[in-house]
Amino acid sequence: MLRINMPEGANKILRALVSCDKEAYIVGGCVRDTCLGKEPHDWDICTQANPEEVIKIFKGLGHKVFPTGLQHGTVMVVIGGAGFEVTTFRKDGEYSDGRHPDKVEFTSDLCTDLSRRDFTMNAMAFSPTTGLIDPFGGQEDMRKGVIRCVGDPGKRFREDALRILRAVRFASVTGYEIEVSTLAAMRSEAKGLKKVSQERKQKELVPLLQGGSTRKVLVEYGDILAEVIPEILPCIGFVQNNPYHPYDVWEHTAYAVALSPQSDWLVRLALLLHDIGKPECYQEDEAGVGHFHGHGKVSQGIAESILMRLRFDNETVAKVTELVGIHDRSIEATPKAVRRLISQIGSEQFFRLMDIRTADICAQASDLIVGRMEKVKKLREIGWAIVNDKPCLSIKDLAINGHDLIAAGIKPGPEIGRKLKSLLDNVIEDPSLNEKEILLKLSRNM
Ligand code: ATP
Ligand code: MG
Repeated sequence: MLRINMPEGANKILRALVSCDKEAYIVGGCVRDTCLGKEPHDWDICTQANPEEVIKIFKGLGHKVFPTGLQHGTVMVVIGGAGFEVTTFRKDGEYSDGRHPDKVEFTSDLCTDLSRRDFTMNAMAFSPTTGLIDPFGGQEDMRKGVIRCVGDPGKRFREDALRILRAVRFASVTGYEIEVSTLAAMRSEAKGLKKVSQERKQKELVPLLQGGSTRKVLVEYGDILAEVIPEILPCIGFVQNNPYHPYDVWEHTAYAVALSPQSDWLVRLALLLHDIGKPECYQEDEAGVGHFHGHGKVSQGIAESILMRLRFDNETVAKVTELVGIHDRSIEATPKAVRRLISQIGSEQFFRLMDIRTADICAQASDLIVGRMEKVKKLREIGWAIVNDKPCLSIKDLAINGHDLIAAGIKPGPEIGRKLKSLLDNVIEDPSLNEKEILLKLSRNM
């Protein structure tokens, strides 16, 4: 029998419910992730008890309870500092808008609840007393490496088209194949993704990009992703006619995303969009070689509108578009140039930019990689040396401040700010100037 090591809090919740004669299981993502050998990031519980009963049982035991999603039957129970979502077995009504069920009904039958879930591997429940409950063959599908809808795929995707993007996400994360009739229905129903809220699509896009099989998934399902980001459509199949680029723009993009660190989703998002302006910038020289002058800036503009539409927060939009805009800017491999760049964008962004360069170059013609990789390596080393030196890269790191300038006889006002800025420029050029006496002298001569 399958055994799952649950957190003590989840165990307590199951025991408390069962002792009140209510069935209770862990369900969904946590069962799937355990079968995949991954540590689940949350432990969802489903139960026969209705929400009022759940609230009463756990309040009675002295636990904090929050009605986080009462309209869906979800209550959050806090045990030992951790929150667990406890949801009453549910049966979804009709989906007339292609997004949400018209009404949610509770049921006392676990299998009915499992049948509303999207894929067989997400439709399994477990409890220590019953073992695994798997009416749709999720474990067998996982053994075969297959993602398959529960029930009729066309109907399930018409109910909620987000499931199409979720299938792509799970394919990226698990490396599994999508079962033939599920895939056919994804393609025929992909238009439905237009009706799905941008926030929900954003939430699937990020893990999709961080999967271990992103390259394969982006290449094979680019047409489906284009229903979420139509701007990628011109990139698919766009031949570059350039010795550096054996791949079309979209294949190169997919490869570059996959070659970057899986852990940094900002880097992966920037790589997804880094060349999105290329088709617009295409020009051929007399020899018939393709060039894309200015595509960084054009991609930046397109990236901004995509990210805002997908409702990413302002900080994410700013960071990702900055990286897209400068991804192909030439940087001299000298401490002076790198100090200037780090003072402009910050060290975190600088190292992200290096990750982007590395992936971008490695996703090009293999015989032309070596020299350019040497340069990125050198830039990184210079960057590390600078960061370890804790150099002066902003006005607050200068050895003098506005008060010092005023004390030295400079009139308070905008002049002070201008002088400090220009002193900083000097110090970035030559860090040895960052001494009080030298800076005061310099400021007098300005
Ligand atoms: P993760 O939490 O790792 O991102 P997950 O599959 O657990 O993935 P959740 O949003 O936490 O995703 O959903 C929990 C469970 O609810 C899923 O495993 C699945 O059984 C069900 N589920 C989630 N979204 C849908 C949906 N759009 N349609 C049908 N069932 C869904
Ligand atoms: Mg989950």
